[in-house]
Amino acid sequence: MKHWTENDFQKWLYGLKEEDAHLQTCSECRTELERLRLARRRTFAAPEVSEDFLAAQRRNIHNRLNHPSRNFAPLRWGFSVAMLLLVVAGLTLTPFRKSPVVLTNDEQLYSDLAAMEQTSEPKAIQPLHRLFEK
Ligand SMILES: [Zn+2]
Repeated sequence: MKHWTENDFQKWLYGLKEEDAHLQTCSECRTELERLRLARRRTFAAPEVSEDFLAAQRRNIHNRLNHPSRNFAPLRWGFSVAMLLLVVAGLTLTPFRKSPVVLTNDEQLYSDLAAMEQTSEPKAIQPLHRLFEK
């Protein structure tokens, strides 16, 4: 007789397959079946929680229900207000700006404009000239 397949063991776990004669003769399959049986028992076993722990938990819940004022947390409110103030400050304060260029006189402005107009070449191209110098 053939060994039980993984599918057979799964069917047995779900109660869809009965133990057959092969298990009585094959120790390998019987060992696997016992391992699965133990694992299932461990899985379904009730968790160990002491009565004292549960009683203390119930007392804590009742204490909190009877004293709702304990939920007030000034730190939480303080943090919220601080964050709100930061957002408002960020939205209302103008960012630091560089001081605008101060022109000394109109003559300088016109001479600068004239100089810019005379060179038709963009400034970015000027460094490229060095590449072609011999
Ligand atoms: Zn077997």
